[in-house]
Amino acid sequence: MRAPGSLTVVGLGPGPDRWLTPEVADVLAQSTDLVGYGPYLDRIPHSFHRRHGSDNRVELSRARLALDLAVAGRKVALVSGGDPGVFAMASALFEALESGDDPAWADVPVRVCPGVSAMLAAAARVGAPLGHDFCVLSLSDNLKPWDLVLKRLRLAAEADFVIALYNPISKARPWQLGAALDTLRTLKDAATPVVLARAVGRHDEDVTITTLGDCDPTTADMRTLVLIGSSQTRLLPRTDGNGDAWVYTPRGYAPAEVA
Ligand code: SAH
Repeated sequence: MRAPGSLTVVGLGPGPDRWLTPEVADVLAQSTDLVGYGPYLDRIPHSFHRRHGSDNRVELSRARLALDLAVAGRKVALVSGGDPGVFAMASALFEALESGDDPAWADVPVRVCPGVSAMLAAAARVGAPLGHDFCVLSLSDNLKPWDLVLKRLRLAAEADFVIALYNPISKARPWQLGAALDTLRTLKDAATPVVLARAVGRHDEDVTITTLGDCDPTTADMRTLVLIGSSQTRLLPRTDGNGDAWVYTPRGYAPAEVA
């Protein structure tokens, strides 16, 4: 009989190991095989794992490989950055499972472990911008039409959500963040706080607090998380020597402000 394999979907957090949960550390230590985007696997210390690194654009084939390895009896960790369910591998895994291309996949024990998503680390750096209702969008139009991105941004602005933007810009998608900000400027106050949080937790971390009116999209890159305030998001002077201001969104609206 074949040794029982398993497949665990994990996220490493946005950067330093202290943002990797103890649960995920245990899963990695007990895995025989790691499957994921190469730079993520590079963050895991070399031990007795077999590594199956790949390019970032082949999520579905990576999920299939992970399932095949588990069917063959391996203990597989399928690795994402941040949280594995936020614009990451967990959904790709379920797409592969649903395709049912190999009936044996259905019997693989699958588990998903949560991780610290980039927006949570970015928000913590500046205070509490996500303290009231917010929504999250990926600006990548590789997997959805750009018109849908714009529609969601317009409606998010209308609903006065704080907005977190993943995948704001890349070499292949240089103009999307600028276009998104232009759309939001037609709907929101120019003084709305904006946070550009680049490489949070890494050695080259760079967190900038600006406004919707002043935000320069060319200062963001593919490792940047963008937070755009609601009408209630505000700055609080910060005198602890670690920056000029806190950014926070109060827990509620003053009664008079609710229409
Ligand atoms: N699953 C990941 C997101 C993958 S999408 C998570 O939960 O965080 C990749 C996007 O995440 C990047 O384009 C960037 O917007 C954001 N991101 C990932 N790591 C980051 C970090 N250390 N600092 C800022 N943004 C980060």
